[in-house]
Amino acid sequence: MTAPTAAGGPPGLPSDVTAALDVLLGTEDAIHRALRLQVPYLRTAGRCSCGCGTTHFDLDTEKVAAAPLPVGTVVAAEVQLYDTVEDCIGEVLAFTRNGFLSWLEVCSWSDEPVTLTDALRMLRP
Ligand SMILES: [Zn+2]
Repeated sequence: MTAPTAAGGPPGLPSDVTAALDVLLGTEDAIHRALRLQVPYLRTAGRCSCGCGTTHFDLDTEKVAAAPLPVGTVVAAEVQLYDTVEDCIGEVLAFTRNGFLSWLEVCSWSDEPVTLTDALRMLRP
């Protein structure tokens, strides 16, 4: 998957966020293709204060087309996280609102927050 922004990623998005979105949206699914076109326009609006990798986005919806998704908040992509003994320990979800990328959520089934850097080592698309 070569995006025009592959060198360094979109300005304003940390590389761990870009890398996670690459995996989550890296399918041939028409919805994922449409959402990938929004990634260069995303800005980080805030990251979760608990230390996990959950990240909220700002997106100028005048500049991009909405993906063909239902109105409201939808999980548009998800991947599970597996540890070294192949136990599923959580998942990463991409939420959209009205067809636009809205936030990335890192869920852990334990009390330990999982950062995106941790998650990237454990993602199984
Ligand atoms: Zn958190």
